[in-house]
Amino acid sequence: MVSRTSTIPREKPQKEENPFEVARKQLDEVASLLGLDGPVYQLLRNPMKEFHFTIPVKMDSGKTEIFDGYRVQYNSALGPTKGGIRFHPGETLNTIRALSAWMTWKCALLNLPYGGAKGGVVCNPQEMSDDELERLSRGYIRGLSSLIGPHKDIPAPDVNTNQQIIASMMDEFSKLKDYSCPGVITGKPLSVGGSIGRDDATARGGMYVLRNFAQKAGTDLRDATVAIQGYGNVGSHAHKLVEELFGAKVVALSDVEGAIYSKEGLKYEDISKNLKSPGVFSKEVQRAELLGRGNDGNKELLKLPVDILIPAAIENVITDENAEDVNAGVILELANGPLTPEADEILHEAGTLIIPDFLANAGGVTVSYFEWVQNLTGYYWDIDRIHERLDRKMTAAFNEVYDTSIEKNITYRQAAYVVAVQRVVEAMKFRKWV
Ligand code: NAD
Repeated sequence: MVSRTSTIPREKPQKEENPFEVARKQLDEVASLLGLDGPVYQLLRNPMKEFHFTIPVKMDSGKTEIFDGYRVQYNSALGPTKGGIRFHPGETLNTIRALSAWMTWKCALLNLPYGGAKGGVVCNPQEMSDDELERLSRGYIRGLSSLIGPHKDIPAPDVNTNQQIIASMMDEFSKLKDYSCPGVITGKPLSVGGSIGRDDATARGGMYVLRNFAQKAGTDLRDATVAIQGYGNVGSHAHKLVEELFGAKVVALSDVEGAIYSKEGLKYEDISKNLKSPGVFSKEVQRAELLGRGNDGNKELLKLPVDILIPAAIENVITDENAEDVNAGVILELANGPLTPEADEILHEAGTLIIPDFLANAGGVTVSYFEWVQNLTGYYWDIDRIHERLDRKMTAAFNEVYDTSIEKNITYRQAAYVVAVQRVVEAMKFRKWV
């Protein structure tokens, strides 16, 4: 294990833009708006702690393979750090640094008593058996056991880390401590301390924010037309909820295989009945028109003249190359980083209302926080309490972003950064770090 002052030798060379540089650029913009400099600025621009360690795993073949594991604890001024763990062949330290910075701002914006963190293992889960993945998950937690804990750093699921992996991680930590410790990690199955309402929390939180924006704008969401890119956890729940909560009409859907369209609307009930995992298109969907396969379909979906576009797939789908083709009135960013900074500027200039990711998709980490509170108190809430408190948290964050944006005449994304960064700075000052 090495500290951040050491040289970390195994980082892959990056061909594309370094995500940590993007995160720093965004912070720099806010730092200049807030007049931050000196040690405050230095501390905000750098992760406070980084860990890199090796994880030997006995593979099914009998051979041992060595995996690289990382954890970055970006800033803990507001409390124990929190953030997911990714299992991905392309994982890099710079991606994890960026994601840990974004977690810091997201937790601060939602006023959660957490700093930000992120972790990852360089591996290809698609090529590993369940037993190999379990040994890797347990090895990852053994490597980190002295650095995480319910009051220190609380991991969660992210790309390719499912409920089974999270349950194994919680179990390994509990075995090492010799008592059951559900509060060390969130995203657990219900039977081992998970929270009710976590499954649709990200989409639901986004809906509460959307409702609040519509109320401010005096817009009726009934019969609003919606296009959703990505049909995994977030996209499919968003489909269900825009119908259920607002009576809006979803006219287009996509996943990695392509996109479909129906002027009359694609009902959640029809789609979920016909859906064979994975892929909206593995089965014919009644009355729907195929916009195109793969990337082609996804590109067409982004051009549709809809009231609300919901990117819920991956990052950087709208860039300076296609931003001018986007015809939606509102973009609700449920995915992380779906717009590049250039696209953001083009669309903002064109008058599109952009509801930024770290406000729009913060419902997930908020219900993870509720899970942790339930674990620490040993008292489990019902679904009404989860929904009511999620709404309260999302609405409070929305109000602060909205008011700050008006008061300072800045975009909602800039306003979200201002609220979050100010909160972290205040805590650092009270702690006399700076
Ligand atoms: P998921 O893996 O369940 O689903 C992803 C969906 O995107 C799938 O339908 C997949 O087919 C589609 N997709 C993948 N690549 C695509 C491409 N190139 N073009 C079009 N579609 C593509 O993931 P998820 O949990 O639903 O997360 C979606 C997004 O939301 C991610 O950006 C994630 O970081 C963000 N997010 C998720 C949560 C959460 O609670 N799950 C919380 C915050 C943010």
